[in-house]
Amino acid sequence: MKKNNIDIFITGAGLAGLLASIAFSRKGFSVVCIDKMDVKNHIDNNKKSYRTTAFLEPSKKFFDEIGIWTEIKKYSCPMNSLKLVDTKLLNDHLKIEATKTFSNESSDTLGWNIKNNDMIKALFEVAKKEKNISLFSNTTIEVFEINDEFVDISLSNKKQFNAKLIVGSDGRDSFIRNELNIKSTTKALGQNALTFGIQHEKSHNNISNEIYYSGGPFTTVPIKNNSDDNYSSVVWMDEENATNNLMKLDKTSFEQEINKRSADILGHLKLVSQPQLWKMRTQVAKRLISFRAVIIAEAAHVLPPIGAQGFNMSINDIKCLLKKSIKNKFKLGEPRMLLSYERERLVDMNFRVSSVSLLNYFSKTDNPFLKIIRSSSIKYLFNFNPLKSTIMKLGLGSQ
Ligand SMILES: Cc1cc2nc3c(=O)[nH]c(=O)nc-3n(C[C@H](O)[C@H](O)[C@H](O)COP(=O)(O)OP(=O)(O)OC[C@H]3O[C@@H](n4cnc5c(N)ncnc54)[C@H](O)[C@@H]3O)c2cc1C
Repeated sequence: MKKNNIDIFITGAGLAGLLASIAFSRKGFSVVCIDKMDVKNHIDNNKKSYRTTAFLEPSKKFFDEIGIWTEIKKYSCPMNSLKLVDTKLLNDHLKIEATKTFSNESSDTLGWNIKNNDMIKALFEVAKKEKNISLFSNTTIEVFEINDEFVDISLSNKKQFNAKLIVGSDGRDSFIRNELNIKSTTKALGQNALTFGIQHEKSHNNISNEIYYSGGPFTTVPIKNNSDDNYSSVVWMDEENATNNLMKLDKTSFEQEINKRSADILGHLKLVSQPQLWKMRTQVAKRLISFRAVIIAEAAHVLPPIGAQGFNMSINDIKCLLKKSIKNKFKLGEPRMLLSYERERLVDMNFRVSSVSLLNYFSKTDNPFLKIIRSSSIKYLFNFNPLKSTIMKLGLGSQ
């Protein structure tokens, strides 16, 4: 069997794997990307899903830089501000206690929001047309052996490759991470996230609202729906029991609950999609590299969906790996290059993981004392410049 020499082998054609494949291909690297599932079928089966990804301004700039912004923009809704809303229960209604709005001081937009399925579809269509990318669905690695000069990979479709670098972008239960024997610190959060679409009475005005009460935030994010600005996607985080009970409700009862929980921020809400449930955990890999191998995105870090950090962090992984690869084009995958990738990414990763964990802790609290701190922070502390700039750094995804 003939073995093909390539630069980069990527396992996993999710958002991160497809984006990494395109980014490397556009900078002249030859790439093979595989996924164990049938990506086209996955796209067809998820047409009705309202799970969305909000990406921040630096991520948009990266899409622009690698020449795919036009394809992504078609499906994306601009998000001009993020409003934090704290609430308190009064006479069986949530009353707004405090609000704080963050905008981007140097640009009109803070970020953009896109349905995951539209983003996968756009990236998949681009990747299929790239002459530097070979993309295989329904394919797994049978064996890979790491040598001094390359990684020898045999696939379930009987193709074989010698790659200078293997990239694990195969999600939270990463096969590559396990094979490399990289350990992770995992924390079950006892929370789930529900995602669904809503039609609302008032315009979203391109604002994302993060509404706190207890159990976790209820976040609305504007979505593109022709020129109609009355549609948003929702991520509602809460304790496992509460979300499991919500999933059992019929449409009318579910709508009553979301109208109660949204504190009337967007007027009356109607449910426009079937809610989907996602289990929450925090998971951070202890190392990001091995010999001629690296892990990125959810294979390296999993976070609760607060402050739009997950995929934005993955984009930072890809940007960093791309920068190091261009600089070391003739030493691709060698230890010095990978160590410098790991050093840079671990700092950013740990900052974001601890910040999001802290925000989650305050957002889900039932403790009356912590609730007072939360409200006061929103009212007063966020006006305090150092804290404001940390939040903006987190929110704007700057490095
Ligand atoms: C409810 C929710 C809301 C979120 N909202 C946001 C947001 O607004 N903004 C944001 O930045 N982030 C958000 N995130 C995080 C973001 O969705 C994830 O970071 C991103 O989707 C994960 O992408 P990934 O490519 O790393 O992993 P995945 O999407 O899991 O992709 C991994 C791929 O690898 C494939 N694979 C697995 N094992 C193998 C194998 N052995 N061989 C071959 N292929 C394999 C899988 O089939 C899959 O296609 C959210 C997450 C959740 C749960």
